[in-house]
Amino acid sequence: MSVPANELGNPAHAIFERFLRAGECREVLGCFVELRQQLGLQGSGLQLYHGLKAALNYWNAKALWSKLDKKAGHKDYDQGTACAGTKCLVVGAGPCGLREAIELALLGARVVLLEKRDSFSRNNVLHLWPFTIHDLRALGAKKFYGRFCTGTLDHISIRQLQLILLKVALLLGVEVHINVRFEGLAPPTGKAGGWHAVLQPSSSPLTHYEFDVLISAGGGKFVPEGFKRKETRGKLAIGITTNFINRHSRAEVEVAEISGVARIYNQKFFQNLYNKTGIDLENIVYYKDDTHYFVMTAKKQSLLKKGVILQDKADIESLLSPENVNRDALLSYAKEAANFSTNYCLPELEFALNHRDLPDVDMFDFTCMTRSENAALVREHNGSRLLMGLVGDCLVEPFWPLGTGVARGFLAAFDAAWMVRRWAAGTPPLEVLAERESIYQHLSQTSPDNTNKNISQYSIDPATRYSNINLQAIKASQVKDLYLVGMAE
Ligand code: FAD
Repeated sequence: MSVPANELGNPAHAIFERFLRAGECREVLGCFVELRQQLGLQGSGLQLYHGLKAALNYWNAKALWSKLDKKAGHKDYDQGTACAGTKCLVVGAGPCGLREAIELALLGARVVLLEKRDSFSRNNVLHLWPFTIHDLRALGAKKFYGRFCTGTLDHISIRQLQLILLKVALLLGVEVHINVRFEGLAPPTGKAGGWHAVLQPSSSPLTHYEFDVLISAGGGKFVPEGFKRKETRGKLAIGITTNFINRHSRAEVEVAEISGVARIYNQKFFQNLYNKTGIDLENIVYYKDDTHYFVMTAKKQSLLKKGVILQDKADIESLLSPENVNRDALLSYAKEAANFSTNYCLPELEFALNHRDLPDVDMFDFTCMTRSENAALVREHNGSRLLMGLVGDCLVEPFWPLGTGVARGFLAAFDAAWMVRRWAAGTPPLEVLAERESIYQHLSQTSPDNTNKNISQYSIDPATRYSNINLQAIKASQVKDLYLVGMAE
């Protein structure tokens, strides 16, 4: 929608419009700094949000404020005072870290978010459950990304999702710092001191930031000290993801998506694929978004036969190591599977490029999935307490073809926000932890079918989302080992 010229005559309005449309992480942050300078706005948190609202009161901005105001008015946030005085550090600007930061900001906490990278580069597309679509709409997703879930679309690229959430987080006063890596915790030194982070670069002024809540959303490979991982080893599962350029031509628009063809449901399709191409798959998903995105689980024998994997090896890490993979053969495999499954109707399939400027094709091991044994713990040192929680992939690694990552990630983000709310209300630490673990028990079984149907009522309160949840399933006496005194593990 175009903006009337007189409104863009106002420099702040023009910057805000650029901010809404910005398509790169650094551009978003740059526009936001410019906007604040233009408006002379200091501070952070909801105070900043109110400042922005007062200063930007033209129609397009007002439409967004009305959405965010509605959200912020929910009783769980106590008008932005539920966590006033709580200082949070969130690690990771993936979808779940950003979603968590938004909730903590709405609760009135001070929220600092660290991200070790400075760009959002993942083209891969995430499946959205109905509640996540509803949730993102309520945060104004369409204002930032007009194509968000138009028609029956129920997916979004990871980078677009990050962009939307980053913009909302900034507007709500989250302090976002890129190119800063969290390396660990620095315990309080004196009687009056608090918890700090060890960061890279160590010269970052944020090393002085004292916080009482740490939420890690650093993804599958990053789990902070103190948490233990559990491995679930299933049968061999080799995932391949690939993205092709979407030119949005008529021919491309007409090709139907594949929202999950699993072998058990469509044996004929996979048999034909195998007979005609030698490609043997367990499942395949195709989503049309900024790119044409495919994710499939391939059988090892066919990867060996097609020369993608060079030598059979017993351990999966060596099997999929770069030295044992012929990349050109992998590219052909992925392209052939994409062509066959779309009936050769996507013209001129050309690989989109990844952040290394290489064709965006990857092969991943889903044989061994990990999850954290616990969702939270408390550390105490020199009398100073720190609540630590995990959300997203660093809590439970998702199996991508099932598309559970962001839905369960958001559920966990809400659960963690609820935990922080209880913490800020002065609930005894063991009770907070016991309740959090009681809720965590449910996460891996959640699906759109067994969570509450009334998605418009979802809030951070677990009772609005999970049917018949017992918040006291785990007792305080059972989580004593999650209260760690001192820094020893
Ligand atoms: P992530 O999205 O992984 O975000 C974690 C963030 O933390 C990253 O930005 C990372 O840079 C940052 N970080 C990590 N360590 C630190 C640190 N020490 N300090 C500061 N920052 C740190 N899911 C699907 O369903 N389909 C897919 O095709 C798919 N493709 C994927 C491709 C890749 C390369 C990756 C990594 C994940 C993919 N996923 C996919 C998973 C999906 O992205 C996640 O389920 C979803 O994004 C939620 O993840 P998250 O926010 O918990 O973590």
